[in-house]
Amino acid sequence: MENKPKKCLECGKELETNSHRYRYCSNRCFKKARKKYFRDYKREEIRELWLKVQKEIGITCVICNSPKDVCYHETNGKEHPRGRENQYLKHYLENKASFVPICRKHHWIVHTLANIRITSSENEKILNLVSKILANRTD
Ligand SMILES: [Zn+2]
Ligand SMILES: [Zn+2]
Ligand SMILES: [Zn+2]
Repeated sequence: MENKPKKCLECGKELETNSHRYRYCSNRCFKKARKKYFRDYKREEIRELWLKVQKEIGITCVICNSPKDVCYHETNGKEHPRGRENQYLKHYLENKASFVPICRKHHWIVHTLANIRITSSENEKILNLVSKILANRTD
C-alpha cells in the first residue's frame, strides 16, 4: 500500500515522499508550530491558575461585593507581586491567606489613603467633615 503524500501541519505544503521530516516541511514550520504549542500551553496554564485563584480567594470585592474589575490586594502591607502572570497567580495561591479580592475603584482608594499617610486624629476630623457633606448631598 502506497503512503498518501502528507502535508506540512503548519503551512499545508505537500511533504516530499522521501522526506525524513515527519510532519513539517521545514525547520521554520517546525519552530513556528512549537512556538504556537507553547503559547497555547501557557495560555491554558494561566486560565487554570485564574480559575483556581478565583475559587480559592474569591471573585467579589471585599468592600462592595462587585465582581467587576476585581484584582487581589495584599493585606499585610507587603509589596504586591510583580512579574509574569503565571508567577504572580502562583504567588497568590501560595499566600492565599494574605490576599483579598477587591475591585479597581476600592483598590485605588485603599492605596491612595495609604499614600496620604494621615494620622488617626486627622482621619477622624476628616471623616467628620466628609460625613456632613454626604448628609447634605441630594444626588
Ligand atoms: Zn511548512
Ligand atoms: Zn469594591
Ligand atoms: Zn493593593
